[in-house]
Order: sequence, then structure tokens, then C-alpha cells
Amino acid sequence: MADESVEKGEETAGADAPKAGETEPESAVSTADPGVGPAEKTESGEAGATPEAAETGPAGGDAIPARVIQPDVRFVRDVINAGGSDLKKCYQCATCSVACNITPDDTPFPRKEMQWAQWGLKEKLTGSPDIWLCHQCNDCTAQCPRDAKPGTVMQAIAKMTIANYSISSIAKAVGSAKTFVLMALLPVIIIMAAIGIQGHFSNVPRGGNGAIVYSEFMNVYRAIDPIFTIFFVIAAVLLILGGRRYWNDMLRNHVSEGGAAPEKGFFGNLWPTVTEFLAHKRFRKCDETRDRANSHLLVFYAFVGLLLTTAWAGLYMDVIHRESPFPMYDPIKILANISAAAGIIGITMVLIYKFTHAGKIGRGSYYDWWLIGTIYVLLLTGIGSELLREANTAVFAYPVYSLHLMTVLFLFIYAPFSKMAHMVYRMVALVFARATGRDLGVE
Ligand code: SF4
Ligand code: SF4
Repeated sequence: MADESVEKGEETAGADAPKAGETEPESAVSTADPGVGPAEKTESGEAGATPEAAETGPAGGDAIPARVIQPDVRFVRDVINAGGSDLKKCYQCATCSVACNITPDDTPFPRKEMQWAQWGLKEKLTGSPDIWLCHQCNDCTAQCPRDAKPGTVMQAIAKMTIANYSISSIAKAVGSAKTFVLMALLPVIIIMAAIGIQGHFSNVPRGGNGAIVYSEFMNVYRAIDPIFTIFFVIAAVLLILGGRRYWNDMLRNHVSEGGAAPEKGFFGNLWPTVTEFLAHKRFRKCDETRDRANSHLLVFYAFVGLLLTTAWAGLYMDVIHRESPFPMYDPIKILANISAAAGIIGITMVLIYKFTHAGKIGRGSYYDWWLIGTIYVLLLTGIGSELLREANTAVFAYPVYSLHLMTVLFLFIYAPFSKMAHMVYRMVALVFARATGRDLGVE
């Protein structure tokens, strides 16, 4: 194992490594770490080692300039509270970095992230592409001899990255089960208000032949379009701004560590990254949850299909003035139904893997379940709305359709603050890794 570790460019902590699980973050910073270079003064004034020295080791006895570490103890607590409760069990053996099939050979993850997190090096972690190059497969967690759950810690740090680049108070509320009801109230109130303003609580509209017509119940032009467009635009702007700040932080860290600024920027590297992502090559390199690539791919393409369907419906209604509901044999309905079915199959596969692998990798955090649950409700109520309309059972159809709209709005409103935002941050990290020539080891 040690040989493999060296092959991956890792320094192991050695037999005398401090048992981090027994120390507080402050003392982790000030504890001399064997094999990590000369001691230095920490903020607290005690002898310690620089994180950089710990990564690279002494260079042939050359003196490494002293540097003051500014540990963010609150960040350590936040990582622990965000799901990384076993962080301090890590004793830096580097087995996790060897176990990870995705990490580049040069300065691999997640061992160094475990150390940085113990030391509270917030800027290094939140401004690092590696947090999102990790695909949270938990191969490393399954191999960790200390049960420090490095995959879960990486996920906790990723969650904090989302909070860091959005509005952290909202992100924390979204990430807490205690505030779920409060969070859910906003879309519920908005949809209920829209139904009430249209007078459809007392007078449920029906089509000419008594059929259920959802576009009469929630008028597309006066209710659906304004509500969903506003929240979609707000979510998109927040995600773009967050992604931009993340890119700038990564660039600053990269340059400050001696790296060259990339020749081509974000857009110059976007397309090859997208083509790699569309095949989910990286997911397929994981051992423990290899089949997770297929489930994630199904859910991803389901969302792409449903987005296309929404745009297509807009084209029908706004451009060629064709009113809904559309017949089941219409291509738009076929695409929508195939997408919904793919989504249900994909998210069910995710569930099955979570339960069948729970012994090795845990059952996941509230953060995971928030997204899984939301996607499930969204897809089931979408399919349910259609079936109930076909069965012409208005008493169930309108409530289920209302719940569907609330769930879609819920996802839109909280997308920048929830695990949904991983789509943007992971893409930005992948593009940055490509732009800076970080060994991706995928192609
Ligand atoms: S997380 Fe586990 S496997 Fe990784 S360095 Fe720490 S103790 Fe070793
Ligand atoms: S969770 Fe998977 S991808 Fe992430 S560091 Fe661990 S082994 Fe690597």
C-alpha cells in the first residue's frame, strides 16, 4: 500500500503520525507532523507545520519559508456538522487516495482534503477543483482503516462550497431537516395564492366536454409563465454568479501556488468537458458504485428531456397557438413520458444502490435525501397528473397537479442552495481542471 501511495505522489504520515481523532482542530495545526518540513509559528504562536510542507515534504533539507496558518475553527465545526463527523478519526495513512480511481496522480485527493479540513483551511478547500472532481462514489470510504469516511467528508465540504458561493444562511436552512416545513411553505403559498387569485378554489374549471384542462386551472400566461420564469431567472443568475466566484477563487489559488493562468478560459474548455460529462466516463471508474453511472445518467437525461418538453410546449402554445392538452401520440407527449419513465427508473436505481451499499458507504445525508425525495415527488406527481386527467378524476387530478407545480417551484427556488447546484459547480471544476492541465485520467 505504501508503494502505491508513493506512486500516487502521496506522503504518508508515518508511524508517529498524530492521531488526529484525538485532537481539536487548533491543536491539529500546532502539532508537529513527522516528515513535513521544518516547524513554524502558527497563529497561536506554537510550533507547527505548514499545510504546504505537509503536502510536499521537505525538499532535500532546503529551508521552507515560514508561513502563518490561519485555521478557521468554525469551518471545521461546520464540516463536522455538515456530515463530516468522522473527520478527526483520520490519521493520514493515504489509503483513500490510493483507493480513489478518479483522482489525478499529482497531489491526489482526498487525503490532503482530510488534512486541510482538520486544519480548517477553508479558502484552500472551497477554492479547489478537487472537491468537485470527486464524484462521491465512496470507494475511499469503503477502504478507510479508521472509518473516517473521507467520501462523506468530501461531500460535506462540497455542501459548504455551495453555501459559500450562494447565500449561506439559506443554504444552511435548505440543508437542515429542521427547516424543511418552513422552506416548503414558500412554493406552497405561491401556488395556492395563484389558484386563489384565479378563483379556482370555488370554481374548478372544466373543458367543453367536462374534461380536465390544467391550462384552464393555472392559466399559462397569467400564472405559470410569470411565476416560473421569475424563479428560474433568479436561480440561473445566482448559479452563474456563484460559479463565477468559484472559478475566480480557483484561479487565484492556482496562480498563488505557482500555476500559470490558463490560456483558454472557461468557454474555450467547455465543449470537450461537456462531451466527457455526457458519457459519464468519470462515474464509471468507481468500484463500489460503478452502476451508479447508469442511474445518474438516466436521471440527468430525464431532466434534459423534460426541459426540452417544456420548451417545446412553449413553442406550441406561444408560437403556433396550439392549446394543451396534447394527445398521447404527439411527439411532445412521447418525449415527456419517456423522460419521466427514465427519471423514475434512474432515481429508483439510486435508492436501491443506497440501500444495498449502506453497510460500506452509509445511507447518505439529509442533503442527498432532499434531492432524491424532491425528484421522486416531482416525477410521480407529473405522471400522476397525466393519468388522473386521462381517467377524468378531477377530485384527485387538480390536487396532484397543484402538488406537482409546488414541487417544481420548490426545486427552482432552492436550486442554487441545494445539492441541485452540484451540476454547475462540478461542471465549473471539470472545466477548470481541463483548462489548467490537471491530469484528469479519464480519456
Ligand atoms: S481518511 Fe482514512 S484512508 Fe484517508 S488518510 Fe485518513 S485514515 Fe487514511
Ligand atoms: S468518494 Fe470516490 S471519487 Fe471521491 S475521493 Fe472518494 S473514491 Fe474518490
